Amino acid sequence: MRGKAGLAALALLGSLALRAQDDGFAPRAQGNAAVRAQGDGGAAARAVVLIVVDGVRWQEVFNGADSALLTRRPGGVNDTLAIRREFWRPTATERRSALFPFLWGTVATRGVIWGNVTEGSDAHVTNGLKFSYPGYNEMLVGVPDQKIDKNEYGPNPNVTVFEWLRMRKGFKGRVAAFGTWSVFNDIFNPKQSGVFVHAGWDPPPGRVKGATERTIDRLYRTTIRYWDDNTYDAFMQSVLLDYVKAKRPRVLFVGYGETDEWAHARRYDLTLRSAQRADDLIAELWRTMQAMPEYRDRTTFIVTTDHGRGSGDKWTDHGRDVEGAEQVWIAMVGPGAPKLGAVKGGTAVTQSQIAATVASLLGENYFKSEPRAAPPLIGTRP
Ligand SMILES: [Zn+2]
Repeated sequence: MRGKAGLAALALLGSLALRAQDDGFAPRAQGNAAVRAQGDGGAAARAVVLIVVDGVRWQEVFNGADSALLTRRPGGVNDTLAIRREFWRPTATERRSALFPFLWGTVATRGVIWGNVTEGSDAHVTNGLKFSYPGYNEMLVGVPDQKIDKNEYGPNPNVTVFEWLRMRKGFKGRVAAFGTWSVFNDIFNPKQSGVFVHAGWDPPPGRVKGATERTIDRLYRTTIRYWDDNTYDAFMQSVLLDYVKAKRPRVLFVGYGETDEWAHARRYDLTLRSAQRADDLIAELWRTMQAMPEYRDRTTFIVTTDHGRGSGDKWTDHGRDVEGAEQVWIAMVGPGAPKLGAVKGGTAVTQSQIAATVASLLGENYFKSEPRAAPPLIGTRP
């Protein structure tokens, strides 16, 4: 069902039609009219980064720390005074800015964020399962797959938008995925897709050159693993930044996983700290890329989560039977992103719309690959 032969034929046609195009970052005249019309008035993005912070609830994104969880029970917080000092503020606006300074200070200010249920903005997953693999598959393929009903499903049989873009002219060797969770090796299925993947505790790729690389390599090999299948966000970030500087990907996935792990462990203090740190790591990636001429003002970030979680005592959990865990949030900033700020009301948006959005931002029509995909969040379905 992968349709490899069809894809190859499409790619060949594409390469014949677009032969004159470069595969680097030189500006090109053409773009996606829909993106231009609905976006910031500029050209389509040259690079898109899809960033997922695993299992972060809309409640924290829009309201900041939840006072009911800054507690021993049900929050699992020992030093409640310290955590209140770090994250409690009188208003929701102040609390969310303290928790996610980059998301609120840059992304939502210059771009858009959907998913504030309280304000009538509905962003949800359509897979019905409300856990990770089905969610990542939905956002990467554009349509849920009922066969994928466990995280241990194994190699993904579907063609993701990342795999499809890699076949397009100008993207070969420029599509990569980094994630702390080892299951990204299945989700992106690099053997089949050709997408470069670095996941979990895999040793850092490439030759060890200098002292910094040696240190990172050592830490990957020698640090005691708290989770067998998930490395620390900070470790992955070092490998990611090195890769971005060296290989300059045009389509990049980044998956931060600590937030979900600490929530399952009922540690609201560490859940908040890892969420705040993830926001800081995203800001660092943004600054790094904006400092590189080929990315500056040509790079769009999509920041989202793979599923929500329950509320009250169920805040630690998510899954098919957990009420409210279908609610997510989706934010976007950069060329092509609508400047709507925090959306109130409006039509519901879905996780399945992300795949076509990634392609559309790059001026590519994903429906050629997956006609069942949900329409992009920007522009209109071609
Ligand atoms: Zn989880």
